[in-house]
Amino acid sequence: AKREGKHQYRLFNDAMRDQLVQRMRIEEDLRSALELEQFELHLQPLVSFTARQVMGYEALIRWRHPQQGLLYPDAFIGVAEQSGLIREIGYRVIREACRLLRDEQALLGDGCMIAVNLSPAQFSDPELLSRIEATVLEHGIGRGRLELEITESVLMRDLDEAIGILNRVQALGIGIAIDDFGTGYSSLAYVKRLPINKLKIDRSFIQTLSWDRSDQMIVEAIIAMAHKLELEVVAEGVEDEDQYHRLEAYRCDIAQGYWMSRPQSLESLVGVPQKIAGM
Ligand code: C2E
Ligand code: CA
Ligand code: CA
Ligand code: CA
Repeated sequence: AKREGKHQYRLFNDAMRDQLVQRMRIEEDLRSALELEQFELHLQPLVSFTARQVMGYEALIRWRHPQQGLLYPDAFIGVAEQSGLIREIGYRVIREACRLLRDEQALLGDGCMIAVNLSPAQFSDPELLSRIEATVLEHGIGRGRLELEITESVLMRDLDEAIGILNRVQALGIGIAIDDFGTGYSSLAYVKRLPINKLKIDRSFIQTLSWDRSDQMIVEAIIAMAHKLELEVVAEGVEDEDQYHRLEAYRCDIAQGYWMSRPQSLESLVGVPQKIAGM
């Protein structure tokens, strides 16, 4: 048994070492990906329930890896966050979103906005505001065209400081959405204090919406509460017609999910807004 223990210990170390080597390799790859501009944004339509048309998009990062093909965030965002590289990657994302807003009006649809995800490491970057401001000014981005999605974990460290930053972001004409709402420490009292524009209800509540009575009540209550606080509500992960119609009955504002459209590369976005408007 003792021997076996030793053996297991060694295996464990091997596994840890492999993992470390793997992480270091990804980090190195990420650095050259930044240099070689291997990141791209895919856009997933946000559909207005009342207008029945695309009102904007969430930008989702993809990595066109030279050997491994198209990589999704799950494969690299963790390493990017731990290494701090997410800051630089994040600025690229914001820049590219601004470029799309400036140059691709016809493709996106008139007046559409783009939402980008902001990681906690970006949020605590002292350069955040000045760099975003410079990018927005450079591209001539009007009010309400760019939005930042943050998770509640960003707010947990120092709420007052976070509120200060969010106020300054909004003063630049940039909207704020709370992402994955319902999974964190979200309390309604707490949301009331925040300078935000939207709540995005987490996909886990939408998945069960057709049959889980308590999730139905929760989603309906979140929407009603958000409206009292003058916030718009986005439902994430809408995958079928039944979910869509329930959310519509609850007066949800915006739907996002595979049922309307998967995230699209820029090339494959052609005609998608028109198709959705005809749904
Ligand atoms: P998220 O912000 O919650 O983004 C929504 C995720 O749900 C996306 O996964 C999207 O493709 C997926 N999704 C959308 N509709 C459906 C649906 O109907 N069903 C299902 N099952 N999934 C749906 P993706 O693109 O793999 O992104 C995963 C996460 O990676 C994002 O979750 C976000 O946290 C992070 N991420 C993506 N892009 C960026 C970025 O530019 N910066 C940072 N910091 N994080 C990013
Ligand atoms: Ca998001
Ligand atoms: Ca989300
Ligand atoms: Ca999520």
